[in-house]
Amino acid sequence: MFDLLGLPGVKPVDLRPGQILTVVVELIEEQLPICPDCAQPLHRHGRRSSIFADTPMQMQPVRLEIMRPRYRCETCGKTVTPQLSFLDEKRRATKRLVDAIRDRCLGMTFHALALQTGLAVNTIKNIAHDLIAELERTVRYETPVIMGIDEVSLAGEYRCVVTNLATNNVFQILEFRTQEHLKPFFKNLPDRERVEWVCTDMWRPFKRSFSEYLPNARLVIDKFHVVKMASDALEDERKKYQATLTKDERLQVKKSIRWLTLKRPGNLSPAEKKALLVVRETIPALGLAYDVKEAFFRIYDEPDKESAMRAFEAWETALPDDDLPKFTSLAKTVHNHYDDIFAYWDSPGRITNAYTECLNGLIKLANRTGRGYSYEIIRAKTLYAKHARKVGSGTRLITTSQGAVPTKRTSETIEYGPHIPTLIDIAEAGGLD
Ligand SMILES: [Zn+2]
Repeated sequence: MFDLLGLPGVKPVDLRPGQILTVVVELIEEQLPICPDCAQPLHRHGRRSSIFADTPMQMQPVRLEIMRPRYRCETCGKTVTPQLSFLDEKRRATKRLVDAIRDRCLGMTFHALALQTGLAVNTIKNIAHDLIAELERTVRYETPVIMGIDEVSLAGEYRCVVTNLATNNVFQILEFRTQEHLKPFFKNLPDRERVEWVCTDMWRPFKRSFSEYLPNARLVIDKFHVVKMASDALEDERKKYQATLTKDERLQVKKSIRWLTLKRPGNLSPAEKKALLVVRETIPALGLAYDVKEAFFRIYDEPDKESAMRAFEAWETALPDDDLPKFTSLAKTVHNHYDDIFAYWDSPGRITNAYTECLNGLIKLANRTGRGYSYEIIRAKTLYAKHARKVGSGTRLITTSQGAVPTKRTSETIEYGPHIPTLIDIAEAGGLD
């Protein structure tokens, strides 16, 4: 029989088709083995057959029925079953099948892999857990120079996602964003002196947890979290007034006032511009709130820190007294985080967590398709899925007084972590399950 299996030391002797393709294999016996204790040749002592799963053939799961002779030593009575190096005895599968599952289990559903291989979902899960433990020990992503820290809803809870904002990669996912999780993370972070900027939201305890561990890092509050407060303040006003519109006026506005007023003027279509005019005429107070929101957003269009600070001051001075309480409290929040908000204009390339925001939507999708997966699995699928992991050129640059120069170890491979735009592409193609 032609050997399609290509496994060392055995040959196929029979093939039984069915739902699962069973290949009966026999050991290729050369000479009788020697007793390890007595150095005497062993005698044949019956046979035993055992079942092992193997890689699928012709889209069908495969089982090997392995017939192995048993040997007995006449002198000491010891019985021996020959070991086959290609078997993973613990998993009752060939090592090459276990490898193939390891290769795919973070990019496919466990259920699909179970169907393909005929193995139980639990066996796939156990292989995945072993793999994840190994990845935890061995995979090291380059510590970001510009680090983003944000919260993302994953497996039913808000998790802490750490990103590399210079390369748009996910660097780490922590179970929760608490001091108990962040402190050990910073403490054990390799090359932590590399971190120059940390971009996050206005979560106060954050400053305490990082400042003692990241000696060279400056905090910048993420632009999107700041302007979102202006959008939220506008939403508050909109809710107050929307109910006052008559049915006829609502029909005239057509589009949801919510989306209309949250948009920037440059993104409004001609029809939306008209609708906004109707809103201004019928609800002048909401028109005013819209202008106040827009003026706040424009602070971020300022080319430098001084003009941004002046623009904020002008914006605050122009706030109507007591009319827009949410905007007044926004002004207060800006004062509370003043240095860290305006650090934006000192940061290289104007750091934002924009991609982390995309990641939010992406992980929501993963949560939906990965229903039933634990936090650990969704985290590993996001953090370690091979197809999205970005590998650097191998030339690491360091900044010196002469400019950026390569370090000595130019041949080493640098991994930055999964590339967020790639993760998003995969998710949009429906593939992050
Ligand atoms: Zn013996």
